[in-house]
Amino acid sequence: MLFKFCAECGHELQDIKCGDDDCKICPSCKRIYGRNPIPVVEVLVVNELNEILLLKQNYISEDKWTVVSGYMVEGETIEEAVAREVKEETGQIVTECQYVSSYYFEPKQLIMIGFIAYVKKSEFADSVEVDDHKWYKISEVDEVIARENNCSGMHFDMCKNFLK
Ligand SMILES: [Zn+2]
Repeated sequence: MLFKFCAECGHELQDIKCGDDDCKICPSCKRIYGRNPIPVVEVLVVNELNEILLLKQNYISEDKWTVVSGYMVEGETIEEAVAREVKEETGQIVTECQYVSSYYFEPKQLIMIGFIAYVKKSEFADSVEVDDHKWYKISEVDEVIARENNCSGMHFDMCKNFLK
């Protein structure tokens, strides 16, 4: 998405070239706007019993289950975002995380940064974004994971190479 008005000062933006890409610049505060994707962490949560934690999020799917995901926040590293989102959405504490792959989600211009997060199985926390939580065996995940309107299924497929 390319902005039309400056998010800082509200001035109408002017066209400018940034390399081969079309960008915009604010004539007042000189901030430059490009076609930048929004970074999102996409996290497969695994416990010490090798179980996978999936979420029921009705706004994504009425009958399928998703992995943890969330927008990054200014000032944090990707690893900090992984730990924060896992804690917020599930209550689990990440002890270690591992980068797996990234995915581009065209409908919302998101760059999904895919991780596996290892946790010690503990009590679930309530989150307004999550309708239910459940631990699954790895062999059960294919049947229930959401493959439309999100990257959960694609991320799980990539994680299989790293799971025991
Ligand atoms: Zn401006």
